[in-house]
Amino acid sequence: MRYCYHYICHDLLQSKQLIDPLPREATHLQLYSFIQYLNMFKVIRDKCIRNKAVKYLDSLRNGSRSYATNNEIVTSADIVIIGGGIAGCNTLYQLSKRGANAVLLEANRLTSGTTWHTAGLVWSLRPSDLEVRLLEDSRKVYSGLEEESGDYAGWINNGGMFISRSKVRTEEYMRLHTLGKAMGVPSEVLDPTEAQKLFPLLDPSVFKMALYSPTDGTIDPAMACNALVKVATKNGGKIYEDCPVIDVHYAHNIFGNKEVTGVHTDKGFIRTKCVVNCGGVWGPRIARYAGVPSLPIIPFKHAYVVADAIPEIRGCPNIRDHDVNLYFKIQGESCNIGGYEHNPIMLDQVSDSQHFHLYDLDWDVFSVHMNSAASLCPKLANVGVKSTVCGPESFTPDHKPILGEDPNVFGLYHNCGYNSAGMMFSAGCGIQMAEWIITGRPHYNMFTFDVSRFTPGQLSRPHWARESSHEAYVKNYSVVFPNDEPLAGRDASHDALHQELIDDGAVMQARAGWERPGFYLLGEKIRVQQYDWGGVNDYPRNLDLRYEEVLKGDYTFGFSKHHDLIGAEALACRNAAAMFNMSYYGKLYLTGPDAQRTAELAFTADLSKGKDRVVYTLLLNDKGGVEADLTVSILDGGQGSLHEPIFKGRGYYLVTPGFSANHTASILKRVIHKYKLRANVTDVTKQLCILAIQGPDSQRILQRYTDAGLSNDAFPLHTHRSISVTKAPNAPDNKSYTCRALRVSWAGELGWELHIPSSHAIQVYKALRQAKGLRNAGWRALTSLSAEKGFHLWNADLRTDDNPVESNLGFACRKGGQYIGNEAVTKARKNGVNKKYAYFTIDDKIPLFGQEAIFRNGMPVGYIRRGDYAFFLDKPIGIGYITNDGSVVTNDFLQNAEYEIEVMGKRYKANLHLRSPFDPTGQRMLGNYGALGMDENTHEPHAGQNERAGGSE
Ligand SMILES: Cc1cc2nc3c(=O)[nH]c(=O)nc-3n(C[C@H](O)[C@H](O)[C@H](O)COP(=O)(O)OP(=O)(O)OC[C@H]3O[C@@H](n4cnc5c(N)ncnc54)[C@H](O)[C@@H]3O)c2cc1C
Repeated sequence: MRYCYHYICHDLLQSKQLIDPLPREATHLQLYSFIQYLNMFKVIRDKCIRNKAVKYLDSLRNGSRSYATNNEIVTSADIVIIGGGIAGCNTLYQLSKRGANAVLLEANRLTSGTTWHTAGLVWSLRPSDLEVRLLEDSRKVYSGLEEESGDYAGWINNGGMFISRSKVRTEEYMRLHTLGKAMGVPSEVLDPTEAQKLFPLLDPSVFKMALYSPTDGTIDPAMACNALVKVATKNGGKIYEDCPVIDVHYAHNIFGNKEVTGVHTDKGFIRTKCVVNCGGVWGPRIARYAGVPSLPIIPFKHAYVVADAIPEIRGCPNIRDHDVNLYFKIQGESCNIGGYEHNPIMLDQVSDSQHFHLYDLDWDVFSVHMNSAASLCPKLANVGVKSTVCGPESFTPDHKPILGEDPNVFGLYHNCGYNSAGMMFSAGCGIQMAEWIITGRPHYNMFTFDVSRFTPGQLSRPHWARESSHEAYVKNYSVVFPNDEPLAGRDASHDALHQELIDDGAVMQARAGWERPGFYLLGEKIRVQQYDWGGVNDYPRNLDLRYEEVLKGDYTFGFSKHHDLIGAEALACRNAAAMFNMSYYGKLYLTGPDAQRTAELAFTADLSKGKDRVVYTLLLNDKGGVEADLTVSILDGGQGSLHEPIFKGRGYYLVTPGFSANHTASILKRVIHKYKLRANVTDVTKQLCILAIQGPDSQRILQRYTDAGLSNDAFPLHTHRSISVTKAPNAPDNKSYTCRALRVSWAGELGWELHIPSSHAIQVYKALRQAKGLRNAGWRALTSLSAEKGFHLWNADLRTDDNPVESNLGFACRKGGQYIGNEAVTKARKNGVNKKYAYFTIDDKIPLFGQEAIFRNGMPVGYIRRGDYAFFLDKPIGIGYITNDGSVVTNDFLQNAEYEIEVMGKRYKANLHLRSPFDPTGQRMLGNYGALGMDENTHEPHAGQNERAGGSE
């Protein structure tokens, strides 16, 4: 083990006479203090900061940090936070601010894990509205800490600059620039010469443009943590250092669920019902203490080097040169150079006793960044390296942090897995965590960070976490293409039809660990290959690179190479019939003596209808935010098969978007737990396949395979029943297979979903595959069709921060009766809403992906949440929410205005539609194709369009 002390250029420090040198036999505490000095040294020569820093350094030197409580620990607390890095300190700060009785336990000293050696860069723009908001919140916290704590908190607002070396990167930055406009985050597009004025060392000939973000900066970890805990202790928060948690206690409640009851430390036991795991790279170990076998966090080495002083860079912005995976952090005359390698070093584990620890830098791995730095700033080729900083950092399979309550243990929250962005995110996330813990749900839509996004199928495969996290590290600075797919961690789960579909040309997408067909390349058999780790570290590169080649067709912000092919699938559904494999949908049974009571509480729609009905419903949180949308088939107990289970009383068959099925199930379980209901949620996703036959010819085609009546009278829209499907029309052996058919459509067509036991799904698929006029179509076509029809897509245009009234889904919320979130819906109905769902079509043929800015009479009023191409309308379609500067959005406000959508910096005239521009009265779902369900003149809907909707993803 080597401490960073050994890498420190003492001469330099002593020559500045800032501190005394550290003896080689330094104790941990001395070393710790010394490291704080080192960090301070980076900023200390900025005069305005120097005086403030000296005060802080004195307090460290005297060992007089007032927040540390080393006496006997408390015996109970409302909330126990494990880990005193930046995540833990931010969580304690926010919880204490809200009056919670919270205690933080740190195994060693605050910041001693990853936090102390961070670069501390804080950016403003990311390709996600949630992340832009969180970064904004973080900056507000850090920049306000000095005034709040009375100590300088280490925030430096020197701005940041993104460097583009390629056309596609420039387009990505232009998307960020546009999103920034919609969200009130300023940025400036600079040509290379203008960029060089801000950063004189840049060679303007090696890049094409730069995006300058004046609100960026850096945060010093030790100072920030010090200020956070100082404020927290003033507000009643408690901190115990040198207090490792050695176990987390939980009990099984009467319903068999695990609930946290306390934590064991070497200083005693603390009773608590709430534990927050802020353990960084040690997070999985803490999760295991609490009976959670796997939390997908993989530690990697991450490094930067500190270059010798360079006077010209004083006052320059930080740099991110994504195309070569490089960053610079500027502090005074000091430049830290870091980056993300293609051959990063994965750590098998980080030992418990590893505090204030750094690794030797592996120059074979790191030197690529020095070359890149010299190519961007030739002067850096001749600058020496003062010290190296290489430490452990957590990476996760999808490159997002892991937050929220564990679905398997009530009262266990996670706040870790920050993917080298913990400084910039954890202050914003701390606010959301505090709200989550205190009010039950966060204020923002945190699903992409929520631990419940991972499925049991993924979590049970250690190689999935390892290889996906590797890919996440390697792609840290890659262009984020909306339709990209991972190469790692594939094939965690697939349905019974997987091989058949590949044989028929399916090109697979990965969602929540499931393989689902994105589109079909007829005549091809393209299999996703085993992850080859990019061919690094002696792994042989895959010989079959066809899947990777197909993905490249989507490496653009223009139209996909596969655009026409996807369009042909979509139009086949609109004009004839298409078969979609929707097996990846989550399928759950809700049964038990209190199933009806559970459904009444959890679901917004009226479920008192007949047992053959399929009802589109929402599941809200207490604040009225939409946690899930799903279809509920009302059932009585059946014959005992998978699609007809035996149970007493009323039961429900729930079909929910696949990527959020685990989330939906965990929310339902929480409702059952909270209200002490006798109900069960059983997941049968793997046991049932779904084939959806959709389109004007669907009835004619399906009728040839079944003796069940399929007319509107015999099988009305939004009903379900068991039917038999024969092996082939007029098959001599007359072999048939039973399944549950639901007459619903997410494509907005006449059609049925067949929910087939996996054991005979292949036979049914093979039978239908022979049908003339029916072609396979994938999810790319299906999501486009649903956008065109105006059906919602959860986690895109419908989220936990949307009220149903804002989302035009008031029709799915019953007016009488009580359900969770009812009050917020009633209030929104009465008082109006401050944002409103709307569709936009653009006459210019440009692709929309989401995150484009909406302008109303020249002013930004929102951004597109979901963009697609509506192939039948032959126009791009965007769905977003319009705001009115905090006031109520009325129909008058919406309609009496001119709209434009800004795409990569350029504005396009847009047509507003308050309701779906396609088949507004839902005639096609009723099988009425006479007038094609369109008002050809206006494309405007007739009243009641959405009341007939009933789709779900
Ligand atoms: C070289 C490098 C550069 C970076 N640069 C940036 C950057 O520029 N910007 C940015 O935003 N992020 C950056 N990061 C990432 C950022 O520093 C981390 O994401 C962040 O510090 C993680 O904080 P944490 O609180 O989650 O974990 P940690 O700081 O590791 O804190 C976890 C704490 O939990 C404690 N603990 C563990 N087990 C127990 C137990 N059983 N009981 C009690 N306590 C326990 C540990 O002792 C530790 O103190 C960088 C990381 C590295 C390595």
